[in-house]
Amino acid sequence: MTYDTQPKASHFINGAYVEDTGGTPIDVIYPATGEKIATVYAATPAIIDLAIKAAKDAQAAWAAMTGTERGRILRRAADIMRARNHDLSVLETFDTGKPYQETSVVDATSGADSLEYFGGMAATLTGEHIQLGDNWVYTRREALGVCVGIGAWNYPTQIACWKGAPALACGNAMIFKPSETTPLCALKVAEILHEAGLPAGIYNVVQGMGEVGHALVTDPRVDKVSLTGSVPTGRKVYAAAAEGIKHVTMELGGKSPMIVFEDANIENAVSGAILGNFYSSGQVCSNGTRVFVHKAIKEQFLARLAERVGNAVIGDPMDPDTSFGPMVSERQMNIVLGYVEKGLAEGARLVTGGARIERDGFYMQPTVFADVTDDMVIAREEIFGPVMAVLDFEDEADVMARANDTEFGLAAGVFTNDLTRAHRVAAAFEAGTCFINTYNDAPVEAPFGGSKNSGVGRENSKAAIAHYSQLKSVFVRMDDVEAPF
Ligand code: NDP
Repeated sequence: MTYDTQPKASHFINGAYVEDTGGTPIDVIYPATGEKIATVYAATPAIIDLAIKAAKDAQAAWAAMTGTERGRILRRAADIMRARNHDLSVLETFDTGKPYQETSVVDATSGADSLEYFGGMAATLTGEHIQLGDNWVYTRREALGVCVGIGAWNYPTQIACWKGAPALACGNAMIFKPSETTPLCALKVAEILHEAGLPAGIYNVVQGMGEVGHALVTDPRVDKVSLTGSVPTGRKVYAAAAEGIKHVTMELGGKSPMIVFEDANIENAVSGAILGNFYSSGQVCSNGTRVFVHKAIKEQFLARLAERVGNAVIGDPMDPDTSFGPMVSERQMNIVLGYVEKGLAEGARLVTGGARIERDGFYMQPTVFADVTDDMVIAREEIFGPVMAVLDFEDEADVMARANDTEFGLAAGVFTNDLTRAHRVAAAFEAGTCFINTYNDAPVEAPFGGSKNSGVGRENSKAAIAHYSQLKSVFVRMDDVEAPF
């Protein structure tokens, strides 16, 4: 392997790489071959303490800089990320197995968008003035302090930036713990931020499993926790943060509905279903994995879908022609293949796929089930892999009730050419992010997050600022103070 995937050290703390081989070793496996490409060590208590101390010590001076100064550093980091997009995309592919065709246009680029967007916004963050007769109140928008970011493994560069950029723009320091499955990319984000001029201690990366995350979340010096992960992990992290009355953002899982009405443009609906189920081998939280198709067009939709899924180019993720790569790990592949078994056992009709692909690495076929019913496990649980469940419907009110009958509320989509129906359906969806005649767009300008069990808070957009800052109200009296005695 010519590309050097072994990082200089496991952690990035106080502006420099730091190693402590006393921690549990974590082997980094390239999902396309199963080969070990790096080893990092989980943070020991000493490393965790070093990171929190560095963040705590550096944060006040960072918050005292002007927004323009802070923003300039973030925007410079965005430029560096874009200039290094190729190398960062190759690393993202090594870390996750996602095809270079995707990583080269989605990961470092969306991370850079986030740094640029919040960098631009940093100088505009203000409180307000509230006049009360001759007296007044003004509000100061202040940083929260030390923020902990904990990432999932599907978008390691993007998640490191989506959490870091707004946190830093608001004057916070961050300690980011990547998923143990994909520990490499966040270190590059830290390196780039420091190259762009970030003061030491403001963005730190520590490696480790859940217990490192737990140690960070429960430390009294930490003020805010932002997690991207599954609902069960979210429950644990939210509860641990609540113990210390900490601020939280929870970006959790989903089982999102996509509804295709009989008047939809079928080609676009098939494209939406492919994007919303097979991009990143289906390992996307907002995926529309319950595809409700109107009975009148169901067979036409399935035929075209199967034909187009057959055009997927499955192979070496580094080959720019490859459009479908491996699962992130053997474990995740086996979990997903287990769901395929459940689907078959429950009587769903396998339209295409369903099997592991006989080659090195953790490849399975993009899979479509039809005739799925609402009570089947594959229609209720988040699979987090390339398994689409197609269900049918005839009536709008009925399909809306079924679409919303889930603990999750991350995303939802509708394909129709009926303008009023599209907006009526979007309004009725119980989900944080909805799509009309498209699926899975996630521009930094728009709020992103879940309702119901899919999460708390919003990432991206102006809305993220409220989750990384707090308002202090200052009362100012110009006349005399009246007291009862
Ligand atoms: P997990 O919930 O397994 O893990 C998420 C992160 O939390 C990992 O870094 C994990 O560490 C860490 N963690 C686990 N237990 C604890 C704990 N007790 N305290 C603190 N941290 C802990 O999720 P996955 O990594 O498997 O990612 C897939 C999930 O993420 C899916 O459910 C998906 O829907 C969701 N997701 C949500 C997104 C959103 O924005 N809404 C976006 C992307 C994914 P480690 O695994 O290293 O042990």
